[in-house]
Amino acid sequence: KMTSIPTVQKVIVIRETGGPEVLSYEENYPVPKISENELLIKNKYAGINFIETYFRKGIYPTEKPYVLGREASGEVVAKGSSVTKFDIGDKVAYLSPHTFAQYSKISETGPIMKLPADSSDENLKIYAGALLQALTALTFINEAYEVKKDDYILLYAAAGGAGLAFDQLLKLKGAHVIAVASTDEKLQLAKQYGAEYLINSQKDDILAKVLEYTDGKGVDAAFDSIGKDTFEITLAALKRKGTFVSFGNASGPVTPFPLARLSAKNIKIARPQLFGYIAAPEEWQHYSTELVRLIESHEFKALISKTYPLKDYRKATEEQEARKTVGKLVLEIP
Ligand code: NDP
Repeated sequence: KMTSIPTVQKVIVIRETGGPEVLSYEENYPVPKISENELLIKNKYAGINFIETYFRKGIYPTEKPYVLGREASGEVVAKGSSVTKFDIGDKVAYLSPHTFAQYSKISETGPIMKLPADSSDENLKIYAGALLQALTALTFINEAYEVKKDDYILLYAAAGGAGLAFDQLLKLKGAHVIAVASTDEKLQLAKQYGAEYLINSQKDDILAKVLEYTDGKGVDAAFDSIGKDTFEITLAALKRKGTFVSFGNASGPVTPFPLARLSAKNIKIARPQLFGYIAAPEEWQHYSTELVRLIESHEFKALISKTYPLKDYRKATEEQEARKTVGKLVLEIP
């Protein structure tokens, strides 16, 4: 059952690794072919995530050419012969590679959810902007470290996309969030979204502040997406039996270290990725249902701070990599 689908499309693609100059906006890139259990989606919005910079730089190796993008919302425009759960015309939001494109595909049993049929563009934008980062926060605070009421939690990049999601969801758990960010404006935003204690990474001694805020004890857990530059600070900031959740490389990957270094305080360390918590259909069902509930009840809000046309992704990532952005960045797809 096919409507008229073009054979070529507009995408953001890389053909080699490097800086933002290797990003290419192309107008004649092949539209993916779907197999019997797959859906083809015409994307309306795609969420921007920092992970794209790792693919581009080669920190996470990929095949080339490689179309960037990990999440989007839009409308089902074609489906394979064995698909039963979705129909042409359904509005959907989903996680899948290659969404900085007019069309992307996903298995019907993959991480995809139906949105209401009368969803406005605004609703499509909210879901394109909430899925990946909010699910990261939601799964990590339940599984990488099960956050408990009154825990003290150290959080970096606290005003970024993932950061604002962590601020809110940690606060809902009753935890005390110690937020790190590079400007006072960013820290005030983190506070509005639930952070309790603030540390300016450009002015303050992060470790000294953490110890001050925790009466010298250190934090129960740390969510560290900065990687290389903060590893030693985070290890020192954890209390005895604390948990180190390392989940990003904003400053570069963590330098290899002897495991025995964890023994001094019996530290647990985890290095999770979102997809490892939502790989099984029942896991996706569980967490996506909870996310919809949090959004609909207004307990959770994705701050979409800026929307760029697809062709301007380079400008968006240059701003994000220069640490000039807050909250979520979204691409509008033509
Ligand atoms: P953000 O919007 O948070 O942007 C990155 C932020 O990192 C910047 O705003 C900046 O905040 C901070 N930062 C610190 N050091 C640097 C540096 N040297 N260069 C650039 N930025 C720096 O991005 P996302 O919300 O998309 O992602 C946040 C982090 O979470 C990323 O590291 C990402 O890889 C990780 N992540 C991991 C996932 C996983 O599954 N493991 C899933 C989702 C996100 P400031 O100026 O305040 O320091």
